[in-house]
Amino acid sequence: MGSLLRMLLAPFRALFSRLGGGGGGYLCDRCKWDYGDACRRPERPNARTCPDYKGR
Ligand code: SF4
Repeated sequence: MGSLLRMLLAPFRALFSRLGGGGGGYLCDRCKWDYGDACRRPERPNARTCPDYKGR
């Protein structure tokens, strides 16, 4: 029963971690500047906070 419940909840947990609620997401993964040479910040690709962050 426990594993069935976990299976049903998995999509919600994935969604939450993508939104940053799981604490595992990095800003860069959702940033408009995370391609090629668009961003040269040293914290890329693992920025937790960033003044240049822009959502895509
Ligand atoms: S601007 Fe900031 S959040 Fe965006 S890719 Fe560069 S370091 Fe990451």
